[in-house]
Amino acid sequence: MNSPPRAPFATLIFLFLTLGALLAGPVVVLDPGHGGVDNGARWYGVAEKTLNLDVAKRVERLLKARGIPVVMTRRTDTYVTLDQRAAIANRHAGSIFVSIHFNAHTNRTIKGIETFYVSNRGRNLASAIQRRLARRIRTEDRGCKRHHYAVLTKTRGVAALVECGFISNKWECDRCNTTWFRDILAQEIASGIAAYYNAR
Ligand SMILES: [Zn+2]
Repeated sequence: MNSPPRAPFATLIFLFLTLGALLAGPVVVLDPGHGGVDNGARWYGVAEKTLNLDVAKRVERLLKARGIPVVMTRRTDTYVTLDQRAAIANRHAGSIFVSIHFNAHTNRTIKGIETFYVSNRGRNLASAIQRRLARRIRTEDRGCKRHHYAVLTKTRGVAALVECGFISNKWECDRCNTTWFRDILAQEIASGIAAYYNAR
């Protein structure tokens, strides 16, 4: 009697890891925009990169408290290219990528929150986040928009980019520059991500 062919050890390991990843669910990749030499927007002495990192770390804590695995594209004030950010997301099959930014405009009366996406799945993720932010926060609801940002198009999983407010608007900048307000932003972003994560 012939013994069945033995699957190569590497194949077994691969199947085991894939099964493990499927059972564990996807990873959320949080991407605090800019960093290091790249300040992002800078108004009234407030650098966008600092706000982005602070909100992302708050979202990370809230998601981990819900048992959702999180990977960060940066944890410190360092410069990470858009390709590197997408590569981190693409290392995790089926990842849910959320890039966190604050906005600016030369017209300083413009204010509000908006969330961007590229794919249809990205739109579901973006609207889960935008809906909650718009419901909780008193500012202009600028809605969800399709925009081919490089960091979104280079990411293979589902992806969204949230613009948490215009720091070129003095009123909105002052608010975004407080920890209590960034905590509210983080609560709603985390709630939106968790809703998408659990409904997928
Ligand atoms: Zn930005």
